[in-house]
Amino acid sequence: MRLDVVTIFPDYFAPLQLSLVGKAIDKGIIEVAVHDLRDWTHDRHNTVDDTPYGGGAGMVMKPEPWGEALDALEAADDRPMTIVVPTPAGRPFTQALAYELAARQRLVFACGRYEGIDQRVIDHCAERYELVEVSLGDYVLNGGEVAALAVTEAVVRLLPGVVGNPESLVEESHSPEHPLLEYPNYTKPPVWRGREVPEILFSGHHANVAKWRLEQATERTRARRPDLLDEA
Ligand code: SAM
Repeated sequence: MRLDVVTIFPDYFAPLQLSLVGKAIDKGIIEVAVHDLRDWTHDRHNTVDDTPYGGGAGMVMKPEPWGEALDALEAADDRPMTIVVPTPAGRPFTQALAYELAARQRLVFACGRYEGIDQRVIDHCAERYELVEVSLGDYVLNGGEVAALAVTEAVVRLLPGVVGNPESLVEESHSPEHPLLEYPNYTKPPVWRGREVPEILFSGHHANVAKWRLEQATERTRARRPDLLDEA
């Protein structure tokens, strides 16, 4: 999979070199290219924003640099582009959407700033490419960079060879096979500050441990996210 990120803050993406995503790059599972939108401006100040038509507060990202950036990225690689536009007005980002995006060959993140990107760029993308507008949640960030990082991490860990034990993808919260939140986890020591690890986990009885974990997961989901049980 190839990932392109277009942003006015390329430095935001330094963490992609770390941890599992960094290893996925090293192993050749993904290629990542981060681009500065200002490289596609032509004025002395590398302007990417302007005042909104119709008036109002804030600035809007100009369409011309975005158009040139998308044309250049399209010409750079044959794989079909899925454009991911982070926006609070987008489709809520879920594990199901992460699996959908993990099946694509090439994701291009268009990171908005200010009041967002001129709508004509979004309409152009919808016509020419696959477009997914994604919201990280019902709150407003300053820019799309954090959302692009979150989506990248959630998608890349689903690609074969990224997570050491693929079983851990099945058992975890929000997995399509297992719609419950994950059960509580424990490790050594057996007693910490007077708190004991549940006895059942020392039993070595796999079926009983699995039953206990399922009960814990169900209870946790009922208490914290009853909406997930309704969906299941
Ligand atoms: N004026 C926009 C609105 O009210 O919908 C908010 C613009 S926000 C200050 C700037 C940029 O941050 C957006 O263009 C988007 O890229 C990103 N952003 C903000 N909140 C987000 C969210 N919840 N999910 C994804 N991206 C978000």
